[in-house]
Amino acid sequence: MKFQDIKSLSQEELRLFLLDNGHKPYRAEQIRTWVFKQKMQTYEGLNVPAELCHLLESSFSIKSLREELKMQSADGTIKWLYKTPDNLPVETVMIPTETRASVCVSTQSGCAMGCVFCRTGSMKLNRSLEAGEILEQIINVMQIKQVTNVIFMGMGEPLMNLEAVHRACVCLHDQKTFSMGKGRLTISTSGIVPKIAELLERGTPCQLAVSLVAADNETRGSLMPVNKTWDLTELLKAIDNYMEKSGEWVTLEYILIKDKTCTKTAAKNLIRIVKPRRCKVNAIVLNDNENPELQAPSEQEVNEFLNFVRAESVQINIRNPRGRDILAACGQLSNNSLSKVAV
Ligand code: SF4
Repeated sequence: MKFQDIKSLSQEELRLFLLDNGHKPYRAEQIRTWVFKQKMQTYEGLNVPAELCHLLESSFSIKSLREELKMQSADGTIKWLYKTPDNLPVETVMIPTETRASVCVSTQSGCAMGCVFCRTGSMKLNRSLEAGEILEQIINVMQIKQVTNVIFMGMGEPLMNLEAVHRACVCLHDQKTFSMGKGRLTISTSGIVPKIAELLERGTPCQLAVSLVAADNETRGSLMPVNKTWDLTELLKAIDNYMEKSGEWVTLEYILIKDKTCTKTAAKNLIRIVKPRRCKVNAIVLNDNENPELQAPSEQEVNEFLNFVRAESVQINIRNPRGRDILAACGQLSNNSLSKVAV
């Protein structure tokens, strides 16, 4: 039987559990300090009555993920492959820079969205992760490095697991646990329109990034099946609504693909979308993938595209790929053992 992870419970749920079982509710804060501040992964040493310790042990797991492999890229990026208690793969990536350490967490094992440029998409969906399983990925990285930013952009579509992702964000933002500002938490979606509105209603403490990928319906639809359910018009409406109500910028992620999204026509379409909005664009050059029809553009094509877009005063940043040699870059997480360098 798989236990629920204690890290998945809110403080209030833990208090109620304690009350229901005849224990003092103030113990909830003590237990959460143990788990989230001290980052303990065993109940041993927790200073509570033995009876309560046994109750916790028999009710909730405190460590859910089993490390199977740890790989380090030549550029310092580290990728971990974990297995859940039901033996499903989950990957986490830590990307260090001089001033930051960002962790890209998975929210599901596999993904149902089927984006054709993404290795995770070809895995299909195993299941959504619990909030505790998401938080544990961050706690594990924190054992070796102070984490400054969390990006919900690993395996899975975060908004298809919004309850758990919301819980994880609330916990990361909580001053009594991780105390991370909302500007340091980014949820990236492929464009689940009704869930963008729900994110707003819930007041999830996070920034929003949307994988635009392509700026016209035909190209986007050929790359991302989600565009057939919610096309660009609906997606942009949801983004505008989010920006208006939250007062926040939204980041658009754009993938440069030869002859598809890295052409003059594509640049004009992108300008048309971005110019009237408070959006900035993060572009990446397509990473290695298993689809022979999708190729990366040449450096010259990339520069021409960027110059054309920037000439219209659109803010577009090109992101350096990190961890390509260990298949840790965007769209490469797939439990694939090729090119892995264990450390
Ligand atoms: S890009 Fe994201 S949403 Fe699309 S298949 Fe990959 S993991 Fe899923």
